[in-house]
Amino acid sequence: MTTKLKTFLFCLHCNQETEHTIIYKGEYLEYIKCNICQNEIKISREKLVEIYTADFIDRVLTKPHRLTEEIKRDLSGFLKSIPIRILTKPYRLAKELGDILHQEKK
Ligand SMILES: [Zn+2]
Repeated sequence: MTTKLKTFLFCLHCNQETEHTIIYKGEYLEYIKCNICQNEIKISREKLVEIYTADFIDRVLTKPHRLTEEIKRDLSGFLKSIPIRILTKPYRLAKELGDILHQEKK
Protein backbone atom coordinates (compact mmCIF):
# COMPACT_ATOMS: atom_id res chain seq x y z
CA MET A 1 0.00 0.00 0.00
CA THR A 2 1.35 3.39 -0.99
CA THR A 3 0.72 6.46 1.10
CA LYS A 4 1.45 10.03 0.02
CA LEU A 5 2.06 12.86 2.43
CA LYS A 6 2.76 16.49 1.65
CA THR A 7 4.91 18.59 3.89
CA PHE A 8 7.43 21.43 3.87
CA LEU A 9 11.03 20.23 4.03
CA PHE A 10 14.41 21.63 3.15
CA CYS A 11 15.41 20.96 -0.47
CA LEU A 12 19.13 20.89 -1.27
CA HIS A 13 18.43 21.75 -4.89
CA CYS A 14 16.19 24.75 -4.22
CA ASN A 15 18.27 25.62 -1.15
CA GLN A 16 15.14 26.50 0.77
CA GLU A 17 12.07 24.98 2.38
CA THR A 18 9.70 23.76 -0.28
CA GLU A 19 6.65 21.54 -0.42
CA HIS A 20 7.65 17.90 -0.69
CA THR A 21 5.69 14.75 -1.35
CA ILE A 22 6.73 11.84 0.82
CA ILE A 23 5.87 8.41 -0.51
CA TYR A 24 5.56 5.53 1.91
CA LYS A 25 5.36 2.00 0.63
CA GLY A 26 3.78 -0.05 3.37
CA GLU A 27 5.32 1.19 6.60
CA TYR A 28 8.56 2.34 5.08
CA LEU A 29 9.60 5.56 3.36
CA GLU A 30 10.23 4.91 -0.34
CA TYR A 31 11.17 8.33 -1.61
CA ILE A 32 10.86 12.06 -1.06
CA LYS A 33 10.18 14.41 -3.94
CA CYS A 34 10.46 18.18 -4.05
CA ASN A 35 7.33 19.61 -5.67
CA ILE A 36 9.23 22.62 -7.01
CA CYS A 37 12.31 21.17 -8.73
CA GLN A 38 10.91 17.60 -8.94
CA ASN A 39 14.12 16.18 -7.51
CA GLU A 40 13.53 12.76 -6.02
CA ILE A 41 15.50 11.31 -3.18
CA LYS A 42 15.19 7.58 -3.08
CA ILE A 43 16.39 6.05 0.12
CA SER A 44 18.09 2.72 0.55
CA ARG A 45 17.98 1.45 4.11
CA GLU A 46 20.96 -0.84 3.50
CA LYS A 47 23.17 2.14 2.69
CA LEU A 48 21.80 4.26 5.49
CA VAL A 49 22.68 1.77 8.20
CA GLU A 50 26.34 2.38 7.35
CA ILE A 51 26.15 5.89 8.81
CA TYR A 52 22.96 6.18 10.85
CA THR A 53 21.76 4.10 13.75
CA ALA A 54 18.84 1.74 13.19
CA ASP A 55 16.89 3.65 15.83
CA PHE A 56 17.28 6.90 13.93
CA ILE A 57 16.35 5.31 10.61
CA ASP A 58 13.26 3.68 12.04
CA ARG A 59 12.19 6.90 13.74
CA VAL A 60 12.62 9.05 10.64
CA LEU A 61 11.79 6.66 7.83
CA THR A 62 8.92 4.54 9.02
CA LYS A 63 5.42 5.80 8.47
CA PRO A 64 4.38 8.00 11.34
CA HIS A 65 0.82 7.81 12.59
CA ARG A 66 0.88 11.57 12.46
CA LEU A 67 3.48 13.78 10.80
CA THR A 68 4.47 15.76 13.87
CA GLU A 69 6.69 18.83 13.98
CA GLU A 70 9.40 16.67 15.52
CA ILE A 71 9.32 14.21 12.63
CA LYS A 72 9.37 17.05 10.09
CA ARG A 73 12.37 18.56 11.86
CA ASP A 74 14.11 15.18 11.87
CA LEU A 75 13.38 14.68 8.18
CA SER A 76 14.66 18.14 7.26
CA GLY A 77 17.81 17.61 9.32
CA PHE A 78 18.20 14.20 7.78
CA LEU A 79 17.95 15.58 4.23
CA LYS A 80 20.60 18.20 4.99
CA SER A 81 22.96 15.65 6.53
CA ILE A 82 22.59 12.84 4.02
CA PRO A 83 25.77 12.29 2.01
CA ILE A 84 25.23 12.31 -1.74
CA ARG A 85 26.83 8.86 -2.11
CA ILE A 86 23.97 7.39 -0.08
CA LEU A 87 21.35 8.52 -2.55
CA THR A 88 20.37 5.94 -5.11
CA LYS A 89 20.50 8.40 -7.99
CA PRO A 90 23.85 10.10 -7.44
CA TYR A 91 24.68 10.39 -11.13
CA ARG A 92 21.47 12.10 -12.02
CA LEU A 93 21.88 14.51 -9.12
CA ALA A 94 25.50 15.20 -10.02
CA LYS A 95 24.50 15.83 -13.62
CA GLU A 96 21.73 18.21 -12.61
CA LEU A 97 24.02 20.08 -10.27
CA GLY A 98 26.57 20.26 -13.07
CA ASP A 99 23.92 21.65 -15.40
CA ILE A 100 22.97 24.30 -12.87
CA LEU A 101 26.59 25.35 -12.36
CA HIS A 102 27.07 25.38 -16.10
CA GLN A 103 24.05 27.62 -16.63
CA GLU A 104 25.24 30.05 -14.01
CA LYS A 105 28.49 30.52 -15.85
CA LYS A 106 26.75 31.66 -19.03
ZN1 LIG B 1 13.67 21.45 -4.81
